[in-house]
Amino acid sequence: MAPPRRFAAAHRRCPGSAGAAWALVALAWLAGCTRVDDSTDPDSSSAADASQASDSAGPLDVPYFDTAKDAKPDSDAVAEAGPAAKELCGNNLDEDGDGLIDEAGCYPGPNLRADQVWTDLGTIDLANAAGPAALRTFGASVKNQGILAVARDISPSKGYVWAETLVSPSGLQVLSPGAWTTSGNRGYVGLGQSTLLFGMAPQVSVVAGPWSLGFTRAATTPPSYKGTPLAGRLHVGVVSRPELPINQVGKLDLDVFCVGGVPMPCAELANSAPWKKIVGRIDAVWKAAGLQLGEVTLVDLSGEEGVKFKYLDNVFAGDSSNELNAVYAATGKLRPQSTAATLVLVAAIQDNGVIAAAGLSQLGGVAGYAGQRLGGMAVAIQEDQWQVALKQPPESAYAGDVWGLVISHEIGHFLGLWHTDESDGSLHDPIEDTPLCDKVGEVLTPALCPVQSKYLMFWSPKGGTLTAGQSKVVRLSPAVR
Ligand SMILES: [Zn+2]
Repeated sequence: MAPPRRFAAAHRRCPGSAGAAWALVALAWLAGCTRVDDSTDPDSSSAADASQASDSAGPLDVPYFDTAKDAKPDSDAVAEAGPAAKELCGNNLDEDGDGLIDEAGCYPGPNLRADQVWTDLGTIDLANAAGPAALRTFGASVKNQGILAVARDISPSKGYVWAETLVSPSGLQVLSPGAWTTSGNRGYVGLGQSTLLFGMAPQVSVVAGPWSLGFTRAATTPPSYKGTPLAGRLHVGVVSRPELPINQVGKLDLDVFCVGGVPMPCAELANSAPWKKIVGRIDAVWKAAGLQLGEVTLVDLSGEEGVKFKYLDNVFAGDSSNELNAVYAATGKLRPQSTAATLVLVAAIQDNGVIAAAGLSQLGGVAGYAGQRLGGMAVAIQEDQWQVALKQPPESAYAGDVWGLVISHEIGHFLGLWHTDESDGSLHDPIEDTPLCDKVGEVLTPALCPVQSKYLMFWSPKGGTLTAGQSKVVRLSPAVR
């Protein structure tokens, strides 16, 4: 076999960004923050400042799951095992001889729509030695299939997880070890979990055939990674669906949770003028990319959990105090069989008691992962702003401008879009038709980048413009049907 060709993706300069500078922007990359600045949103200037401060102090991401509880107990697996060589869970052996370990549903995947398939690629044992992680193969059946790989850390302690290798059926290396920042198919990096959408840049053609895929796990994030995985185990699976026909408008189903009556109890929210404006703006923004909202289900998260999570706190914490993880767990109990993406509406998103962001989203999210942060987005609707929205005249664009854009932006992350520019200009998306604000060494405020900030996926967007390249990417997300 010919050696893989290196993928020439870096059409843009991506300066090295190590140490503190990387840490500052990392949260935005990893968690998909939308920050609001004070040019259109007078109440949120403190939010932007606080967010900057918390970025440099907090951990990069947090694990959601206690995998010891998540994994299916050995005893159950044994009880269900058939007489012939059947894969048993949890013993790190390949009983059925298919080259995969614990691939027999030992680690459950997301809830699936009828058009989706979950391919369990089992677990990978990462030896604590130099060299790439063991590769797994996923066979794409048709061109432009929607393919999202998901890796979860099942080791006792969590490491940073990301895809470092992706080789196309023709041998094109679209993601190479050590080339994460410059790759056209740069996937999400998370502590304890990761996803990779195939085709995160339009120049990566998702063709039929066998794709090689490798995730790694390390004590550090990609820019400082030296190629030595952290010993431990990952579970890897792939959710896929057939190609979305070119003329078909894609739909994203959404479970929207009104947490603690925010911004209103759901029954009232559904009929409120601001909510209709928000939904209208989301559909107007995404129409340009050939998408619209599908089935939107409004659900109240009330009672004690509603009160507790109305003001989400410790959203960047790496321990059980993290209420972002907790609110997803609570919503998962209300819609355990849902195949939709999750959107929680809260009064504030805080860390250490300080407003941290206007919205947070999983980058490359997994629709139907009920109860998990991999399946969700959170958006803050401040109560006093909502009261302002309720008093607007019918023609007002207020609610759409304030929350319709934020939710649209978080949906963009969920469907696999990076920020076009990160706040410090150190990293840009790999999509060629999005504008780059090339101001070295400055914080890229909307005032400094007036044209670029009109685009939805600018790190602090002032408009909802999407490009053809972005459209091609999001329509590959298996969350879209
Ligand atoms: Zn963002």
